[in-house]
Amino acid sequence: MQRLSVLFPAPLGCYDYKSETPVCPGHFIKAPFGRKTALGVVWNQAPDLSVPESKIKNISETVALNPLPPETIRFVNWVAGYTLSPAGMVLKMALIPEPEKTSKKPITFQEPDIRADSVSFSEAQAAAVQKLCAQIDGGFHVSLLDGVTGSGKTEVYFEAIATALKHPGQVLILLPEITLTSAWLNRFEKRFGVKPAVWHSAITPKQRRDTWRAVLNGEARVIVGARSALFLPYSKLNLIIVDEEHDASYKQEDGILYQARDMAIVRAKLADCPIILASATPSVETYCNVLNGKYDHIRLPERFSGAEFPDIRIVDMRRKEKGETGFVSPELKKAIAEKLAEKEQSLLFINRRGYAPLVLCRACGERLQCPYCSAWLVEHRQKGYLQCHHCGYTRRIPSECPSCHEKDTLISCGPGVERIFEEINHIFPNARCEMVTSDTLANPAVFTALSEKMAKGEIDILIGTQILAKGHNFPNLTLVGVIDADMGLAGGDLRASERTFQLLHQVMGRAGRDRKKGTAILQSYSPENLIIQALKANDREHFMNEEILSRRLLGMPPFGRLAAVIVSGRDQNLTYQTAAHLAKTAPFLKEVSVLGPAAAPLAVLRGKYRFRLLIKTTKEFKLQNMLKTWLGKIKIPASVDVRLDIDPYSFF
Ligand code: ADP
Ligand code: ZN
Repeated sequence: MQRLSVLFPAPLGCYDYKSETPVCPGHFIKAPFGRKTALGVVWNQAPDLSVPESKIKNISETVALNPLPPETIRFVNWVAGYTLSPAGMVLKMALIPEPEKTSKKPITFQEPDIRADSVSFSEAQAAAVQKLCAQIDGGFHVSLLDGVTGSGKTEVYFEAIATALKHPGQVLILLPEITLTSAWLNRFEKRFGVKPAVWHSAITPKQRRDTWRAVLNGEARVIVGARSALFLPYSKLNLIIVDEEHDASYKQEDGILYQARDMAIVRAKLADCPIILASATPSVETYCNVLNGKYDHIRLPERFSGAEFPDIRIVDMRRKEKGETGFVSPELKKAIAEKLAEKEQSLLFINRRGYAPLVLCRACGERLQCPYCSAWLVEHRQKGYLQCHHCGYTRRIPSECPSCHEKDTLISCGPGVERIFEEINHIFPNARCEMVTSDTLANPAVFTALSEKMAKGEIDILIGTQILAKGHNFPNLTLVGVIDADMGLAGGDLRASERTFQLLHQVMGRAGRDRKKGTAILQSYSPENLIIQALKANDREHFMNEEILSRRLLGMPPFGRLAAVIVSGRDQNLTYQTAAHLAKTAPFLKEVSVLGPAAAPLAVLRGKYRFRLLIKTTKEFKLQNMLKTWLGKIKIPASVDVRLDIDPYSFF
């Protein structure tokens, strides 16, 4: 009789069981759990011997699956400890529903062909390839592969993949979900002769089951996926790549709150394998690790095609002429007209969905607000409704003001992408315009169709949101216009500047791909702003140095650590009291400062009141231990929810 500890994919820790047949950590078993029998995993935790033998139940059966690899178990434990989440919930991310079920005709994953033709590299590319390939099989090592879009980062890391595949084991490539397109997959297939295993939110249940199995038994050698692919049960990882490492979508914002790029580094450390972070605009965190020598810096200085970064012009929107209306400046109009005459394409960028971000009544001043959130309703004129972008609440556009009941008094304030589309259609009635937003670009197939239309020259002016910042090249696109370059700066959160810089840099880089030099025009109400100036001078280093300096002075990440405590509930008073009590009982230490409680910027979300505490500590401080002891002592009312966000990215 063996006593063992079992973890279930549920919001709990381990439970003890006994077994007649010998089992080891990682084995899948079924055991009585509550009134049912549930699937669990034998865990690497010592059983709790204080519980008398007579109270311990027998497991029901062992399940014929390869055991969960020890590295996966260690990773689950690590993530649970870091994010302060129940280990069972992290395990759930590493499993699929009913993993013991098999498909009738499972998908097979073929061996990639590493001898397939590769390209002939430029000098800088060849040096990068050599460095990265030399790291394979040499243990844990982090490299930043730093080069503008089009400099050949993908081409270079494909060589590292080819080298890694000479050894037994697996390669994981993480991409932001929206860059995981068929174009990317075709490119992989062209290089390696087979499709990689794919993992993201939109794959079918069968694909999910077959892929998970193929990862567990080692049949899938290369896995490309969105952040959740990090939790697959790899038996042996040889190399991890995080492409677009700066991308904010690597932070998961619901369920278990984790930063996939950071956790990928942990995963590589556990696997003792190299990891490559690729970006044209590295995050401040990564860049600091390059400066302090923790990460290797591998640079690809120029676009492979030789195309230069576009000429950048700033339009000062404060100097509007009398009688000028609309959101598109005369300078931008003129530039678009020139491109139309030259039969080249333009892209107008505005990072705001819908027609207008706010609707108000001209008679009484009423602003139309979401009934469940402290947020304005966004007008979506094409679809004929108003929508809250936080909770999804939707209502028809009313014909009268809901407050004073005057008719036809509602006016739209500010621009959204639909409104720019309307304005451009009005100014250039003969141009072929197309609007692209996450509302219209539902899936990769639509993106492929759009790329084809662009390639065939069937579109003159593309108008869209940040969904256009990434992915495909449009070779004949030579003008990028940014309608509101200041917009991202309003939020004022820790990474607002960094994100704005990255996004605008990326968008501007869309102009002038091949031999033609492009132009980017930024419309701004604060042209003296550091970001706008750094973009204009194409001086990333200057921006980064200033940003790093300010973070260092403020003790902000990566020079200090942050955790957010978000307290929410339907009863405003009780929720506030709980938050205030938390603040009062917070440990009083010189390494720790506690800010708040403050009403969150979104003080009401989905009908719940929200208060936030922000905990800031020195870099070396054991933040998790402190949070555990502090919060463990406090009784939280059942109707109040307390969430912890370690290394928060979202501040609302
Ligand atoms: P990045 O990942 O940095 O955006 P890519 O690897 O996608 O850059 O390269 C941009 C384009 O240039 C791609 O079409 C790629 O195939 C091409 N390219 C890059 N390097 C070479 C090379 N050495 N030989 C031929 N084509 C190359
Ligand atoms: Zn809402």
